[in-house]
Amino acid sequence: MSAETGWDHEYDLVIVGSGGGGMAAALTAHEEGLSVLVVEKGKKFGGSTALSGGGIWIPNNPTLRARGHDDSRESIRRYLDLLTEGRVPAARLDAYVDNGPAAMELISKSKWMQFFWTKGYADYHPELEGGRPLGRSIEAKPFDTRKLGDDEKYQRPNNMKGPLGLWITSKDYHDLAMAKRTWAGRRATMIAAWRVSSNMIRRRHMSTGGRALVARMRMALKDAGIPLWLKTKMTELVTAEDGTVTGIVVERDGAPVRLRGRRGVLLATGGFDHNQRMRDEYLPEGGREDFAMGARENTGDGIRLGEGLGAALDFMDDAWWMPAVRHRPGRRSRWCPNGPSREWSSCPRRGSGSRTRPPRT
Ligand SMILES: Cc1cc2nc3c(=O)[nH]c(=O)nc-3n(C[C@H](O)[C@H](O)[C@H](O)COP(=O)(O)OP(=O)(O)OC[C@H]3O[C@@H](n4cnc5c(N)ncnc54)[C@H](O)[C@@H]3O)c2cc1C
Repeated sequence: MSAETGWDHEYDLVIVGSGGGGMAAALTAHEEGLSVLVVEKGKKFGGSTALSGGGIWIPNNPTLRARGHDDSRESIRRYLDLLTEGRVPAARLDAYVDNGPAAMELISKSKWMQFFWTKGYADYHPELEGGRPLGRSIEAKPFDTRKLGDDEKYQRPNNMKGPLGLWITSKDYHDLAMAKRTWAGRRATMIAAWRVSSNMIRRRHMSTGGRALVARMRMALKDAGIPLWLKTKMTELVTAEDGTVTGIVVERDGAPVRLRGRRGVLLATGGFDHNQRMRDEYLPEGGREDFAMGARENTGDGIRLGEGLGAALDFMDDAWWMPAVRHRPGRRSRWCPNGPSREWSSCPRRGSGSRTRPPRT
């Protein structure tokens, strides 16, 4: 920890990490009239959010309300109570249910932030009281990343590519899965195929899911004039004598730079999926970091620095698990979907064994 003087730059709020959390916080702070800087360790922006499906589960958000959803608070709370089995304090669940829609409203003030309901993408436990078979998830509308201009090359590539490119949405995946079974599924599949082909012909650079979400957020940040520094790794938290965090030290172009956050510092550095030591320490299954599908830069930096100042940790044994395969050592791992894309991937097929060679270690 270093002393609280000799700042190189000052902002009201310094945000560490350019995933969905960091960029959403930046847009919120900007709306509140604060000056903001986002710093990002990687060469590309978006974090694990860019690599994700980008499904957002916030009941009663403006997109759902516009589609006529009239969700009762009681049923949402009941569902969350059953899911979390008493492990999450009621106040925190209340805050999520009550403030989530307002947060989405605030973010949606930017013209770039457009979403749609992934109808049919069920809540994870629709069988529980309050669960919904048609789902409450929304997703960012597919986005032509050519609009990012020079920033397009700094967008993190997605690892959920299907043979048609990634610009099919979760809803398309669902419809493809239903194509064998229902006429509605076949119709939706034809529409998706037409949309994908017409975008190909027009040479659009369409992205969907988490990649579309962060591309849209990046556009909103640009409009708001919020700077985003890539290849800038936070290495230290700076504290006042009373222990308040007043800034950070980052490494930029090989040199330390001291950034003051007059109103605070927000750590949005993601998880620790690529820190083997922390995986061994916290995760019940351990697993190997080189199979993790999140951003490689997510090595728990914010967690460790926060812990060093006495921050409490919780849910360290919890993770968003998914089966993954990797074709060769050193290559990115890929997810094993359950839907029709299983046919196109190297994931084990039912009854036919695995087409993937186990990695050499
Ligand atoms: C394949 C996949 C699919 C998923 N699908 C979904 C889904 O559909 N819905 C859902 O809700 N969740 C999903 N998730 C989980 C979700 O992606 C994450 O929970 C979420 O993106 C975390 O957002 P974040 O902003 O906290 O972190 P991230 O998006 O990971 O951003 C953290 C950023 O901090 C940066 N960083 C780290 N350390 C430093 C440092 N020292 N200095 C500066 N920057 C630093 C990283 O480089 C990174 O860019 C999925 C995850 C994966 C891997």
